[in-house]
Amino acid sequence: MPRWSNEIPQQHTGTAYTLKRTPSGRGIVAMVTSDDLVGCPTHWWGGHTVPCEETGCKPCEEGIPYRWHFYLAAVDTTTHQHFLFEMTAQAGDSFKDYRRAHGSLRGCLFEAKRLRSAKNSRVCIRCKPTDLRVQHLPEGPDIKKCLAVIWNVPIPSVVAPDVAKGAPRLRVIPKAIPDPVLARNGGPPAA
Ligand SMILES: [Zn+2]
Repeated sequence: MPRWSNEIPQQHTGTAYTLKRTPSGRGIVAMVTSDDLVGCPTHWWGGHTVPCEETGCKPCEEGIPYRWHFYLAAVDTTTHQHFLFEMTAQAGDSFKDYRRAHGSLRGCLFEAKRLRSAKNSRVCIRCKPTDLRVQHLPEGPDIKKCLAVIWNVPIPSVVAPDVAKGAPRLRVIPKAIPDPVLARNGGPPAA
């Protein structure tokens, strides 16, 4: 039976999250809802990114090189859209440094920009903590399950402990920079 409604729901798609890469130009400003990055080797095959399979990987058999990609979930600060962010290992380093310093990526306000106008030019990531006591952040989705839906591969039966539902996630120790504009400009001026 269809689930009819006269109201237009805020979330009008199902479990499939949009996958975004850093665009050239304005870039992305968003707040991370995941606790950590999830990564896997991928191939560019048949016009899109596919995961490298552990056994019987067709692109590997054809000699196509693989490349690591990393993923996190975030909310765009302008559109409020919850999406999956895809990055290369090089861009992932900034988030790994942040996680080492703050214990979790959740609540990290980041700006992702391409250094040049070319679509594949190097990505620059800048991270700042936000005060999670004043920010309402939705729960981050299970990234592996979202990717399985996007890639149309079997949903992993094992849920990684870092994305398991109900696990304590609010481990960011907020710094006194609640204003994202101030935060982006390097914090409030010294008194
Ligand atoms: Zn492969």
